[in-house]
Amino acid sequence: MIELEGLTKRYGEKVAVNNLTFTVRPGIVTGFLGPNGAGKSTTMRMMLGLDRPTAGDVRIDGKHYDRLKDPLKYIGALLDAKAMHGGRSAYNHLLCLAQSNGIAKKRVHEVLDTVGLTAVARKKAKGFSLGMGQRLGIAGALLGDPRILMFDEPVNGLDPEGIHWIRNLMKSLAAQGRTVFVSSHLMSEMALTAEHLVVIGQGRLLADTTMADFIARNSRSYVRIRTPQRERLLDVLYGAGITVVQTGSGTLEVDGGKPEHIGELAAQHQIVLHELSPQQASLEEAFMRLTAESVEYHAHSDAPPEEQAWGNDWRRS
Ligand code: ADP
Ligand code: MG
Repeated sequence: MIELEGLTKRYGEKVAVNNLTFTVRPGIVTGFLGPNGAGKSTTMRMMLGLDRPTAGDVRIDGKHYDRLKDPLKYIGALLDAKAMHGGRSAYNHLLCLAQSNGIAKKRVHEVLDTVGLTAVARKKAKGFSLGMGQRLGIAGALLGDPRILMFDEPVNGLDPEGIHWIRNLMKSLAAQGRTVFVSSHLMSEMALTAEHLVVIGQGRLLADTTMADFIARNSRSYVRIRTPQRERLLDVLYGAGITVVQTGSGTLEVDGGKPEHIGELAAQHQIVLHELSPQQASLEEAFMRLTAESVEYHAHSDAPPEEQAWGNDWRRS
């Protein structure tokens, strides 16, 4: 379990992480979602004791990272895979990591096998592809057999096969009862991987909920209608007690409406329809809507904090 309490990081005037409080629980994959620059990597670095919080606290199974006796046995992390590529072979890289952390040599073979690098273990990591580098980084994270795993944007730059592999690995680690915390700036990626979702924008917590709840709340279904007899149709729908949204592009939208019902009403009144289609707003759109305010305040970060969060109206003009 990872507990954050009022976690805050300032870089000069910039508030990169703003008063984050949430808990990452074992047994499930928790997605950490936010647009680029939202503060995900900064938060993860603070969780690992690599960056000192300006305020607030992180606890790993109740303890601060620097109080953990054998940190790699508690928490494994993939931060920046490129950072570790040296002239060493994959095997030697992992062996050094194991030896300096009191981890048995046989774990090196086990994790190489888990990530599918056994065949290239003696090759220099410098020559590895991005995907192989990610696998090596993950091998390092798994080395101490930790109960908690953290991955910062693990699928960035990977091919579909690599993405599929990492997704399944995260799910199986969670199924073993481990705490798995993974960041992404892509809602579509989170939807396929995470069971719980923490969303941040401009360092602030925007949502902390189950994926199922997020989908139920945010996947808007509606019917899109185009007609050359717009005014007549609006009158008919209004008369039937149906609320219609008129979009800028000239189409009409009925939230939660049934196409059959609308089609029959139009037929009864001999109204021509050019389109009558059920639509589902994507989760990506829901994520964009949720984070739009925070992205907007990014562009005007000179305003005081309360106005940044709530007083956006004057900026829209
Ligand atoms: P994310 O990982 O969500 O893309 P980051 O945590 O990398 O976001 O960055 C959050 C914000 O903090 C960004 O505006 C970034 O420019 C800023 N930031 C991150 N690290 C530093 C640093 N060392 N010095 C100054 N600003 C930083
Ligand atoms: Mg990042």
